[in-house]
Amino acid sequence: MKIEPKTFQPISGQALLDLPQVLALQADTQFAMRVVASVLPFRVNNHVLEELIDWSRVPDDPMFRLVFPQPGQLEPAVFDRVADLLRAGAQEAQIREEVQRIQKIDLNPHPAGQLEHNIPVFEGERQQGIQHKYRETVLFFPSQGQTCHAYCGYCFRWAQFVGIDELKFASREAEGLVEYLRAHPQVTDVLFTGGDPMVMRTKVLERYIEPLLKLDHLDSIRIGTKSLAWWPYRFVTDSDADALLRLFERVEQAGKRLALMAHASLPVELKPAVAQEAIRRIQGTGAVIRCQAPLVKHVNDDPQVWADLWREEVRLGMVPYYMFVERDTGAREYYHLPLAQALEIYREALRRTSGLARTVRGPSMSAHPGKVCVDSIERIAGEEVFVMRFLQGRDPEWAGRTFFAKYDPQAAWLDDLKPALGEESFFFETDAPASVARTRLAEPV
Ligand SMILES: *Cc1c(COP(=O)(O)O)cnc(C)c1O
Repeated sequence: MKIEPKTFQPISGQALLDLPQVLALQADTQFAMRVVASVLPFRVNNHVLEELIDWSRVPDDPMFRLVFPQPGQLEPAVFDRVADLLRAGAQEAQIREEVQRIQKIDLNPHPAGQLEHNIPVFEGERQQGIQHKYRETVLFFPSQGQTCHAYCGYCFRWAQFVGIDELKFASREAEGLVEYLRAHPQVTDVLFTGGDPMVMRTKVLERYIEPLLKLDHLDSIRIGTKSLAWWPYRFVTDSDADALLRLFERVEQAGKRLALMAHASLPVELKPAVAQEAIRRIQGTGAVIRCQAPLVKHVNDDPQVWADLWREEVRLGMVPYYMFVERDTGAREYYHLPLAQALEIYREALRRTSGLARTVRGPSMSAHPGKVCVDSIERIAGEEVFVMRFLQGRDPEWAGRTFFAKYDPQAAWLDDLKPALGEESFFFETDAPASVARTRLAEPV
C-alpha cells in the first residue's frame, strides 16, 4: 500500500493552547486547560490532530480527553491554587515554585515504589536505567527513549517529562545492561520501556539491541511502545523505517522473538491506513505484537470499546495481553475507576468476543507485591468478597496464587483492600520478605 510520508510535528506548551481547534473552544474551557497545562505535561502531534481526534465531538471525544488538558485532571484544591496565581498575574518564578511543589507532593510521581525498590544493586552500584522486579524479566529504560510522540493524560511516568532531573530514570550504557544480564542467567526477557523507546533513531536502538543477540539465555526482546497509535510512520515512511524492520529481522535470525508491546487505548488508533500498514510491516519481520492499555474513565470505560478494540487487534493478527487498572499517580482522580467497575467492564467486554481475544488478562494492578488481577466478586460463606489473583509476584512463588478481599465498591487499588473471611492479613504481607511488609503497602507508593 502507498502511504504518503508525513513529517513529525510535535506540539506542546503554549503552541498546544494556541491551536485553532483550541481557540475555537469556550473561554473558560481554554482557561481551565491553561491551568492544567501549567502542572502536567502535554504533547500532541500532527498525526494525532489529523487522524485520531474527531473534532466534531470535542470536547467529548475520548481521544481529545486522552491527550488534551482536562479540568478534572487536578484535584479542585490544587486546581484553584494554580488558577488563582494565573488570574492574579503572578510572576513566572512564583508559579514555577508552586507547580513544582504540586508535582512532587500532590501528584505521587513514582507509584508502587518504582524509584526505591526495583532498581538493582550490582557490583556495589545502583543500576540506573534497569529495574528488575520479576525474576524472568528485566526492564530497561534507555536514556534516549524517555519521551513519547504524544503524551497520554493518564501516564504514570509523567514525572519523566517535566524536567525534574533527580526523578528521572536513565542509562547511557548498553554495556551495563549486557553485564547485568550476563550475571543473571535466569532472565529470559528484556523489556525496553520509557517513555517510548521507538522515539529513538534506529541507529541508537541498534546499539542497545545488537549486543543482546549474543546472550543465549535471552528468549525475548520486548519493546513497550505507543508509536503504532501516536506515530505509525516510524515503521513505514520515516527515513530509518526500513532499517528498523531489518533490525527486527536480525532479532528473529538470532533465534529470539521480538515482541512489540503495543499500547492501544481506543479502536480509532488502529484505523488509519498507515497504522495498518505499520502492523503488516512489523509482522512481516517475524515480530509479534501484543497489546495492552489501562482502563480509564472518560476515555475507554465502556465494554463495547474494549470488545471492539480486542476484536480489531485479533483481526489484525495481534494478541490482546493486559488490561491495566489506572495507577495511583498524576491525574488519577480524573481517570480512575473502582475495581468493581473495572471488573464489570472487563468481563462484559470478554463476553462479547471469541476465545481468541480472551488472551487478555485483567483488570490488573502493577502494585508493590506484584501484578494482581481481580478475578470475580463472589459470596463465600455469606460474605461478599473479591477473588484476587497474582499474575506476577515479587516473590516468584506467588504467581498464580489466589486470595480474598472484602468487597468494597469504592476500592480502586490494592492498598484499599482488607482481608476477608476473618483473616487478619493477606498471605503476601505475612509470607513476605521484609521489603514487602504491610508498612510498605501503607506507604504513599
Ligand atoms: C509487567 C511487568 C513486567 C512484565 O511482566 P509480564 O507478566 O511478563 O508481562 C516486568 N517488570 C515489571 C516491573 C512489570 O511491571
